[in-house]
Amino acid sequence: MRATATTVIILLLVLSQPQAQGTPPGTPLTLVTREGRRPVPTTVLSGQELIALDDLASLFQVSVREDTLAGGLTITYRGRTIVASTDQPMASVAGRVVALPAPAVRAGRRWLVPLEFLPRALGPIYDQRIDLRRPARLLVVGDLRVPRVTARIDAAGPPTRATIEIAPAAPVALAVDGGRVIVRIDADALDLALPTGGGGLIEQVRAGDQPNSVTVVLSGRAGPARAAATEADAVARVAIEVPSIAPPTAAAPATPLPPPTSEPASPLPVLTASRPVLQTIVIDPGHGGEDVGARGAGGTEEKQITLDVARRLRTIIEARLGVRVVLTRDEDRAISLDERAAVANNGKADLFLSLHVNASVAPTVAGVEVFHLRLDREGEDARRAAETQAVSLPVLGGATRTIDVVRWDLAQARHVKASAVLAGILEEELQEQAAMGPRPLQEAPLRVLTGANMPAALVEMGYITNRAQENLLRSDTYQASLAQAIYDAILRFREYLEEGRTP
Ligand SMILES: [Zn+2]
Repeated sequence: MRATATTVIILLLVLSQPQAQGTPPGTPLTLVTREGRRPVPTTVLSGQELIALDDLASLFQVSVREDTLAGGLTITYRGRTIVASTDQPMASVAGRVVALPAPAVRAGRRWLVPLEFLPRALGPIYDQRIDLRRPARLLVVGDLRVPRVTARIDAAGPPTRATIEIAPAAPVALAVDGGRVIVRIDADALDLALPTGGGGLIEQVRAGDQPNSVTVVLSGRAGPARAAATEADAVARVAIEVPSIAPPTAAAPATPLPPPTSEPASPLPVLTASRPVLQTIVIDPGHGGEDVGARGAGGTEEKQITLDVARRLRTIIEARLGVRVVLTRDEDRAISLDERAAVANNGKADLFLSLHVNASVAPTVAGVEVFHLRLDREGEDARRAAETQAVSLPVLGGATRTIDVVRWDLAQARHVKASAVLAGILEEELQEQAAMGPRPLQEAPLRVLTGANMPAALVEMGYITNRAQENLLRSDTYQASLAQAIYDAILRFREYLEEGRTP
């Protein structure tokens, strides 16, 4: 009843307003904050890129009011006020007038303002810095490190020489990975200004697969590339040298190029190819469908909380790490424990994380607990066998590879050590963000973990049988802090894996 009446009113409002039709921009604008990255919906109308005030309200916690007396729109943030004109390209910001490229414009029921409104009008009254990096399509909010990254081909060669400059300077990690040089920059985001084409043995310099990396794509004729980073005058420079695939033989007369003065005196190291240690993460939201899991007195069901947090995690991991995240279920459906492990094994995941919510007959019990697999006698034998033998694994479709030295349900045996490290890191990070349970870190023979052929852990995110915790588990803030803690743990675990790989 109420919904229908509202719909009618909205329709009338929409029909009674002239429609301003915009088109989405070629590249979406990305909001970068301490919490992560997310696209910001904008629209291009008569050559102006605009943002809706209601989107701005939810992104920046401002309140928006259409103010007929003031002849404009009133935008309020923590008691400070902006009045945006609807007929003049300007706004009054805490009493001071700032120019905008266009006035606010109405599109249906929404009011849109030019993107410049953010740094020019909202910026001065907001409690964090707002930095619009238009060419890089970034909206940076807060004191973040977003260096400008430029690249140039210095010589077509061979050897082809290129320079990537990072200003202000930031620490750089370099890797050569199958015909690419990957430059990972320790920054929150990158303001990229890269050339469109390449030169010589470099086909392209482009944004990397992760938000803070740049990828140099080498031609098929390129030999092993060398790269080194130096820093001078607050600018970091990465010098890249790419020889052709057939280097001159020792008999050929060597004609070395004089090294540029900015380069290090020692020869550039040859970097070895390597696969990133974390490419795919499987998140397993516990329960689903008919299997609701634990249920709180307020009616909250475990299956919903696990899915909510799994989706949050997927969003932040994909946005910040550029790592593929697979959920064992992304809807409300039942799925067996073996299927969950099969999804992870089939997807060749590097990490498996199962999310659950705890229950207790004692309503006072509360807190987060982390589990990893404990091996019983049989499991310990399997672990020893796994050190020398292949393991047969569950794969989707119910098939099992038949080298039956170790039963597939003991696939986890070979990863118990890494899983224990993962669980320990999870416990440490979670206790920064949440109250821990009576036994914060436990070993248990959990069925969902046994079949996973990768480091795996299970997090019980709180006790739904505790009234206060039930409310917490439903809240955005608690779910967000759980996701943040787990994300931080994954970052640390990745470092652990990376350290383990380099001898
Ligand atoms: Zn559960």
